[in-house]
Parts: sequence; structure tokens; C-alpha cells
Amino acid sequence: MNLFQNVKYGVSCREAAERYGVSVNRQGKALCPFHNDRNPSLYVADDHFYCFACGAHGDVIDFAANFFDLPLYEAAQRLAADFGIDTDRPPTKKILEKRRQKTEAQQLMENERLCFSVLSDYARVLRDWKVRYAPQSPDEPVHARFVEACRKLDETEYYLDILCAGDSFERAEVVQHQMADGKLDRLRRRLEKIHKEDENDNDTAGVA
Ligand SMILES: [Zn+2]
Repeated sequence: MNLFQNVKYGVSCREAAERYGVSVNRQGKALCPFHNDRNPSLYVADDHFYCFACGAHGDVIDFAANFFDLPLYEAAQRLAADFGIDTDRPPTKKILEKRRQKTEAQQLMENERLCFSVLSDYARVLRDWKVRYAPQSPDEPVHARFVEACRKLDETEYYLDILCAGDSFERAEVVQHQMADGKLDRLRRRLEKIHKEDENDNDTAGVA
């Protein structure tokens, strides 16, 4: 095998992208580094990448070549150097496995961070609702947001405590529980919507 084959065999597009600071989400999408991207248009698979907006595409070597503006051969050399790939021999299974494990550990940490940021955002919103939507008199109908705040705030803070102070096993449990069935992702999108609504409210208030 030659340099190109060894690199392609040893480094996935996703690994290269992440190594060079392009964060790829769980669906394999990322902000495209090859054009001014606002929404993730770049699809990154293990053996190729493709941008739905600017059309950039290719394998891992094309990725590095475009990214660093290098000729293909130099891009392959750079990948080999960055990923410790022997240019004469293909990487062994053992080496690949070791690196993949590290990637999994990184993924775990990333999930933990995501979980923490979504839940702390949610807790902030709930604390605000608990005050903002509190009934002003006993005969006033109780606002749904106030009910949600009363019901969910303690629970959310409890999970945040674990993410801050729990051991790795406890933290992993919280992350797994939160991410099951896309729950966290739904919450994240809902919070985005809530923030947008609040922004619009503020805008209108400013105009009036
Ligand atoms: Zn692009």
C-alpha cells in the first residue's frame, strides 16, 4: 500500500474534520469550512464528505488538501504525521482500535457538556417562569408555564448537581437518561424557540 491508501485506511473523514476543529454532530453534519456556512451543510461520513451548499466533496485527503490549501501529496503527508501513520505500512487494527476508543471517550465528554449546557439553560428558564407566571391572586387560572416550573425545576437542578459533582458512572447515567429517544435534542430545540419568542417580545416592547 502507498501513502494515499495508508492514510485513507487509517483516518476517517470525521476524525480528520474533528481533529482540525470542525465539529461534526451526531447526524454527521457540520458547518462547512469551505464556504461561509451558517447552517450545517457539510455531510461528513467515514470515507467521504460532501457539502450540499458549495459542492465541496472528496475523501479524507481532499478534505485536508482543501482545508490547508495543500497539494494532495502534502495533505496526505500532513494527515500521516498528525495521526501517527507509518507512510510505508498500513496501520494495524490495534492502533486503529486504540484511537477509536479515545474518540468514544471524547464523545462521552462532549455529550456531558451538551447535557449540562441544555439543562442549565432549562433551569434558568424555569426559574424565570416560576416568578414571571406566578399567579397574582387565588382565583387567577394557573399558567401552564408556572406549573411546569414547579414540577421540573427541582428535578433539573438535581441532574445538574450530578453532572457537576457526581462520579463518572453517575454522570454517564444522567447523560444516557437525558439523551434517550432524542429527549435532550427536543428540549434544546424547544428552548431555542422560547428564546426566540422572548427576543421578539423584547423587540416589540422596544418599539412600543
Ligand atoms: Zn460548503
